[in-house]
Amino acid sequence: MERILAFGCHPDDIEFMCAGTLALLVKKGFEIHLATMTGGEVGHPFLAAHEIRNIRLKENENSAKIIGGFFHYAGGSDLEVEYNDFYRRASVRIIRKVDPLIVFTTFPFDYLIDHKETSRLVRNACYIASVPNYDKEPGLKPTNRFPYLYYWNASGLKDIFGNELPLTCIVDISSTINIKEEMLACHKSQMEWLKYHNKWENYLEIMKRQSRKEGEKIGVEFAEGFIQHKGNGHPQDNILKQILGELCQEIK
Ligand SMILES: [Zn+2]
Repeated sequence: MERILAFGCHPDDIEFMCAGTLALLVKKGFEIHLATMTGGEVGHPFLAAHEIRNIRLKENENSAKIIGGFFHYAGGSDLEVEYNDFYRRASVRIIRKVDPLIVFTTFPFDYLIDHKETSRLVRNACYIASVPNYDKEPGLKPTNRFPYLYYWNASGLKDIFGNELPLTCIVDISSTINIKEEMLACHKSQMEWLKYHNKWENYLEIMKRQSRKEGEKIGVEFAEGFIQHKGNGHPQDNILKQILGELCQEIK
């Protein structure tokens, strides 16, 4: 079965930005893998880092199970993500383990440096996972293809200057919004944290409001927007459109 990997920074990033599309891809017969760079260590007012990490990784595992998927943790820590040797190897190992046809990750210039660095690391890992002499010790087979790579929309649907991103395509997730909501609802500890820290009263409603705003752009109830990475080596055709047909609207 062909595999698709969504590789975000923190537990719940994926659910917020692309879980509706992942649920559609499951229906098309793909195996879904979720990965996070960090374990959500700072997402609690008083629990110790290892305690909240255990809770959050479990929540993410539960979320992946809802779509019959698999969850991977890269081993990093919140607010510490850097483009360095440790994170480079960790990212490449996940790409080699999954060997995905399609990868989704964070927008390259998102508001949080953890997100921005995750984007660089995942993009780089997609490119170098096929280099046999890089990181040979764990014995993972190098990949033999460049995956299709898509960035999900910026957090809050705007860049750090307040502008909308030049999306490549928008996917109609009206039929899977309930699954997306169910996946996000697995992140109970994050819901409590954002209520405490960001004064977010309704975590699920914020996600729905955002998905609704994306939907308005293409005249459907709920949607998710993406930008395809077209850098050297990567496939240039829009495979999401080929798989999802009219549910995926290309933005010219
Ligand atoms: Zn995040």
